[in-house]
Amino acid sequence: MRVAVASGLALLFIVAGCSDDEALDDEGQETGETEGYGPARGELEITGIEVSQSVVQPIYVDGTVVDPTTYGVPLVPNRHMWVRALWDPPLEWTPRPLIARLHVEYPDGSEQVIPDRETQKGSSPIVVGKSTADDLLSGFYWRLAAEDVVPGMRYSVTVVEPEPAFDIPKTTGKTRWPRDKNTALPVSGDPAALNLYIVGVHYDVPGCSTDTSVLPEAEIEAIRSGFEVWSGIETNSVTIDTSLSVDIGTQTDVLSLLGVVGPIRAEYADIPDAFFLILLDDCSVVPDGILGVAPVNSDPPVLGEASMRYGAGLWNPNDIRESVNTAVHEVGHAQGALHAPCGGAAGPDPLYPHPNATLGARGLDPLTAQFYAPEAYTDFMSYCRPYWISDYRFTKSYNVQRMLTAWAGADMPGPSVALPDGYTGSVLTGIVQAGGESQWWVNANPMPPVAKLGGELRVSVRTGAGEIELATDTRLLPDVPEGRLVQVPLVDGVAFEDVVGIDVQAVHGGLTLEVDAGEIRDARALEFNVRG
Ligand SMILES: [Zn+2]
Repeated sequence: MRVAVASGLALLFIVAGCSDDEALDDEGQETGETEGYGPARGELEITGIEVSQSVVQPIYVDGTVVDPTTYGVPLVPNRHMWVRALWDPPLEWTPRPLIARLHVEYPDGSEQVIPDRETQKGSSPIVVGKSTADDLLSGFYWRLAAEDVVPGMRYSVTVVEPEPAFDIPKTTGKTRWPRDKNTALPVSGDPAALNLYIVGVHYDVPGCSTDTSVLPEAEIEAIRSGFEVWSGIETNSVTIDTSLSVDIGTQTDVLSLLGVVGPIRAEYADIPDAFFLILLDDCSVVPDGILGVAPVNSDPPVLGEASMRYGAGLWNPNDIRESVNTAVHEVGHAQGALHAPCGGAAGPDPLYPHPNATLGARGLDPLTAQFYAPEAYTDFMSYCRPYWISDYRFTKSYNVQRMLTAWAGADMPGPSVALPDGYTGSVLTGIVQAGGESQWWVNANPMPPVAKLGGELRVSVRTGAGEIELATDTRLLPDVPEGRLVQVPLVDGVAFEDVVGIDVQAVHGGLTLEVDAGEIRDARALEFNVRG
C-alpha cells in the first residue's frame, strides 16, 4: 500500500544558496504541503547512501563517508545516476509515509532539492523495516538526470514528515545525512564517449540473403543502449555510423571477416577513437562456433593503434540480446580487455579480481532500474551467463574511453613517430591458429603498428632477392583457440609485389608455416560501399 501525498506537491524546486530547513523545524507550525511538517520524527536512521551508474557504489555507510580512493568504480560525469538512501527505523516506530529530499549543490553555489522518486510519482514511501540491498522500493531513491551529474557537486539527504505527526517525539539524532553540510560527490571531470562504426555486410549466398547495413531502428537502438549500459561513458554518448558496408557473395565466417574489416579500419587511420565492428547475419537460427572475434589492443590505449580498433561479430535478429552482447564483448577486446575467468573463456585476465567472473558489486541498470546480484551474474567479458558489467570492467572501460575521447576532441590524427626505415605503406596481416591454420591479407596502413624482432611469432618474407626476417606485432585473439593476429609492416624497401611467400615460426609452440604469395589476399584495393 502506498499513501498519496496531498495534492499540489511541487515535484522539484530550486533553492538559491543554502537550504533553509530550520524554517521547517518549528514544532506545530505547518509550513505547507511542498515543504512538509519538519524533520522525520522518532529516531529514524539513514544507514547508507549509494549511487549507481550501472554498478552500485556505496558513498556513506553506517555513519561514515566512504573514502573515494576506495571506490570500486569511478563516477562518470554526465551519466544518469541512481541515488539510494537506506533507512533503518528503531524498534519503536510508527510505519508511515515520509518524504526524503536529495539536496544537490553545484559548484556555482546553486542548490537543487529533489523529493524522492516515489514522492515525485505521487506516493511517498512507507518507512517500515530495514532497507534491503536489492529492492529499490525498500528505501528512498532518486534518478539524477545526466546533466545534473557534474564534477564539484555536493549532496546531502533530509527526511521530512508529509503529514502532521506531532504526537511522535522529535528526533534526538541526525536530521541530515551524511552530515549537516553538504558532502562532496567525487564525479570525474573527464568526458567519455564511444564512437562505433558498424560495417554492414550485404550477404548473398545460396539460402541466405541478408543485409546488416540496413538494420531496423530498434536493433540499432539495442546496440546503442547495450554499449551505453556496459561502458563507462556519458549518457547518450554512443554514436553509431552505419554508412559503411561490403558485398559478400561467397560463404564466409567471422574469422574471415576480420580480414575484411581490418583493411577498412586502416583506411580510416586518422579517426583515433572509433571502433569498427563488422556484423554478419549468416542466417543461422542458433549460431554456434565462434560468435565474434577481435584482437586485444593495448590498455591503456595507444594513439598510434587506431587502425587496430576493430572486430567482427555474428548478428542474429532472433536473439538481439545475445548479438548485442557479442558486439560489446568484441569491442571490449578492442578496448584491451582479456576474458573474465568463467565458462572456459581462453586466456583469462590474471588480474581479474573476483572468482568465476562474478561482478564484485551489485549491478543496477541505469535504464531499467533492474538489480543484478553480484554473485549470480558474471562479467560480459566471460563466457558465462547471465551477464552484467563488473566494477573492474566498468573502471577499465571508463579509463580507456576517456583517453580515446580526449584524442578525438583534440583532433589528433596520429602520433608524430617516425615511420620505420623503408616502410612501403603495406602491412602483411595474418590470423594464425594453434593447428597452423592461417589466413593472410595485406593492409594499406599509413600508420603501421610498432613491430619488433624476436617476438612470439617470427615472420620471414621470401622475395626474389632472398629471405628476410621482419619485425612483427602480435596480438591475442581470445575468442579463437590459441589464436594470434600478427602484423608485419613491410620495411627495408620490400613492396608487397616483391613478396613470393611467408615463413612463420612460433618460438615456443614449434609451429612452422609456409605461405605462398598467392594465398595472401591483396586488401589494399578492397571495395566497400560508403553511403552518403
Ligand atoms: Zn572474447
